[in-house]
Amino acid sequence: MTITPRPRRLLLLGLFPNAWVETSGDRAQPTLYLTFDDGPHPQYTPPLLELLAEHDAKATFFLVGNQVERHPELAKRIAQAGHLLGNHSYSHPAFESLSLRQQVEEIERTDRLLHAIDGRLHHPFRPPRGVLSPAMLLHILWRRRRIGYWSYDSLDYSRRPAPELIELADRHPPRNGDIVLMHDDSDISLDVLRTMLPQWKRDGFRFRAIRPEGNP
Ligand SMILES: [Zn+2]
Repeated sequence: MTITPRPRRLLLLGLFPNAWVETSGDRAQPTLYLTFDDGPHPQYTPPLLELLAEHDAKATFFLVGNQVERHPELAKRIAQAGHLLGNHSYSHPAFESLSLRQQVEEIERTDRLLHAIDGRLHHPFRPPRGVLSPAMLLHILWRRRRIGYWSYDSLDYSRRPAPELIELADRHPPRNGDIVLMHDDSDISLDVLRTMLPQWKRDGFRFRAIRPEGNP
């Protein structure tokens, strides 16, 4: 099977209004929205923050609540560096095996933890492994919340070596407004970004966080 950074199911999610399920940013601007899931991580987050700062890149970190409890100082450092915090559940469970009530509790518990870090009441939510049930979508709509999805998958979790992922990114370059899925729980995204950040900059891209949700 050919791999591509644009998996088929994203086409389907792209049919929802961006106000509910954000699958891309401003397509008119040469902006890429890097997003990092599963942190904060004591080994990988600090060098990632340094790399982003070197390139004047702002990003969005979809943090896991229990990791924030373990490393609140790291979460604080991310926010203080001007990046946006997103909600990636409390314990990264398989959402398809939880009731809606349990799913909501995972989200709200993490919002409370993140609130203590950045003062915001709500944070864009990205479900673990992107699993999104119709009930959860309705809940999000009812609560006027927003799902932070992506339009470009770096495949950094796929156990492929960095050179292969770099080659993939070269063959299928991102476009204006793409939200790029990456992870902050291994050094693979760091290896990829050390090559791709300077290259994407040369291609004319700048790097920003996605829209924040609600008011601070
Ligand atoms: Zn995840």
